[in-house]
Amino acid sequence: MDLALTENEDQQALRKLARDIAERELAPRAAQWDETEEFPHDSWEVFKKADLFAVTVGEEYGGMGMGDVESTIVLEELARADVSSAIVAHLNYNGPPRAIEHLGNDSLKQNWLPRVASGDALFCIGITEPDAGSAANLMRASLTEDPAGGFRLNAYKNFVTGGHVAAACLVWARFPGGEGAKGIGAVVVDLSSPGVSVTGVHKKMGLRGCTEAELAFDDVHVASEDVLVWGDPDSTDPFRDLLLHLNHERCGNAAMCLGAGQGALEAAVQYMNERQVGSGTLADLQGLQWKVADMATQLESARLLLYRAVSMAGPHGTPPPLETAMAKTACNLAARSVCDEAIQLHGGYGFSREYAVERMYRDIRGLSIGAGTVEVQRNFIGTNVLKGRTTSSPGWRNPLVG
Ligand SMILES: Cc1cc2nc3c(=O)[nH]c(=O)nc-3n(C[C@H](O)[C@H](O)[C@H](O)COP(=O)(O)OP(=O)(O)OC[C@H]3O[C@@H](n4cnc5c(N)ncnc54)[C@H](O)[C@@H]3O)c2cc1C
Repeated sequence: MDLALTENEDQQALRKLARDIAERELAPRAAQWDETEEFPHDSWEVFKKADLFAVTVGEEYGGMGMGDVESTIVLEELARADVSSAIVAHLNYNGPPRAIEHLGNDSLKQNWLPRVASGDALFCIGITEPDAGSAANLMRASLTEDPAGGFRLNAYKNFVTGGHVAAACLVWARFPGGEGAKGIGAVVVDLSSPGVSVTGVHKKMGLRGCTEAELAFDDVHVASEDVLVWGDPDSTDPFRDLLLHLNHERCGNAAMCLGAGQGALEAAVQYMNERQVGSGTLADLQGLQWKVADMATQLESARLLLYRAVSMAGPHGTPPPLETAMAKTACNLAARSVCDEAIQLHGGYGFSREYAVERMYRDIRGLSIGAGTVEVQRNFIGTNVLKGRTTSSPGWRNPLVG
């Protein structure tokens, strides 16, 4: 893909498939998942039938072996209709399965990736704890050596997206002897294991179909082959490797913001061309045309940043940190602003539940918090820029070396 965002034939076909599914299967039921707070099992089945879960899994495990560009294309299209359903695909595209494929041992890959590709197993990720959110290095989750072999996991994780329906969870936890960011690694836990319980689900303003669960791990046995990343009590490197892999999640989160923002912009354009005010329509009013101009410009600039970040990952790599942080921040903020203005442009109807823009506004709000908040992304961007680090843009030189 180049800066004109030209897509190859496979990518065009994938976008068309995802758009058809979104319009035919997701859009008609999006309000239902929101109103009832039911998990969108029907969307999950639709994705399975269309082979959509296979997109990012390697061909040797039954997948299509595609990368972050393709997962972005699909998520953008699905979220344009329903973010609660899109996030189900996102969990398997950009969550733990990608880390397993890149960092995992053969047993983890053989055990989980074919089930991920077929859509029989959904993955979730447990990082956040009640007293350790942005400061993940303060987590209490601990692994102790089991004299019979492997480890025992004791942890309480909250805000685990899809944790109440997933088959497995990648749990970030501290290995024996570590403190702070040192010692943190990650293990894959089959959620049917003895000692695992779902203690509740969060009630939220948006993304109400696919909610977040609280998971307790009470002395759960973890075999050595289920360790994805070994924590090292003397090093922060394993923790950094895990953080780097979250860049897939950040880009997926950004793609869903872009899709929902696009859906809201299109809804506003349609409404403005239909809504009569006096002798014309809302679309005739220059003050409102300027709003649409800003909405379209915000979305398009965020889109360019996101597609740059995912293109840089290549087919099997990971999107780079600085470009990813900029893309996530831009997409989060663009979606918030665009969905907010879309409500304004619909007038009173925009505030009512009769129009989808109200739901889109609520659905994307939490994405500025999940996968590293906008503030944490800005911390990362600000400190890097001030240290003289540059993005891949050729026009940007390090000002500290002259
Ligand atoms: C929709 C959604 C999905 C999620 N999915 C998952 C999931 O699947 N798995 C999982 O483990 N977690 C998940 N989370 C949890 C999410 O990662 C945390 O909520 C997030 O990291 C923030 O942590 P916190 O809620 O404890 O807020 P806090 O860390 O307490 O932060 C509160 C506020 O202070 C700001 N802040 C904190 N530290 C700093 C700082 N150093 N500088 C500037 N500002 C700062 C934050 O940006 C935020 O605005 C999800 C959350 C949401 C909303």
